[in-house]
Amino acid sequence: MRVAVFLGSSMGRAEKYATAARALGRCLAEAGAGVVYGGGRVGLMGVLADAALAAGGEVIGVIPAAMMTAEVAHHGITRLEVVDSMHARKARMAELADGFAALPGGLGTLEELFEVLTWRQLGLHVKPAVLLDVGDFWAGLLSFLDAQVAEGFVRAANRAALRRVTDPADVLAALRAG
Ligand code: AMP
Repeated sequence: MRVAVFLGSSMGRAEKYATAARALGRCLAEAGAGVVYGGGRVGLMGVLADAALAAGGEVIGVIPAAMMTAEVAHHGITRLEVVDSMHARKARMAELADGFAALPGGLGTLEELFEVLTWRQLGLHVKPAVLLDVGDFWAGLLSFLDAQVAEGFVRAANRAALRRVTDPADVLAALRAG
């Protein structure tokens, strides 16, 4: 099993975000699950990759050529795939993964998460997605999604496809539950 993880290229203001990214990297590696991610060594992305590697896990990064600057790409991972564009990156990450997990992050994280949810809604794949909610970081987003359902813009089944967990140790089980 491989899990594509979307998460901040920043660290966030509080240490709890890095703690969660580190714990998830370790949990996935210890369970024998590979990590697929954006290939960066910065922010929470780097924390996740380093933790998975330290625990003996497989880490595959997929990065667009334009982001391959020395400061950003992580050269210590199991495999770094360089692709032509951001679009190719997201397609390749989705192809390599059996499920998706989103941690706290910014615009890039949101964009990646909602693309896989949209693809699922369209029936382009049936892979599960989990939101790791660290300290209620995602509360505003989740209540907005509920409002979209209430207002008739998102079907309840599509909203339900995004599962929420609060403990990194529960991510894999939630993905396996579909
Ligand atoms: P953000 O949430 O805006 O920090 O963006 C993080 C997400 O976008 C990650 O899951 C990456 O796939 C991608 N991304 C953004 N910035 C970078 C970067 N400097 N290096 C690699 N990937 C990045």
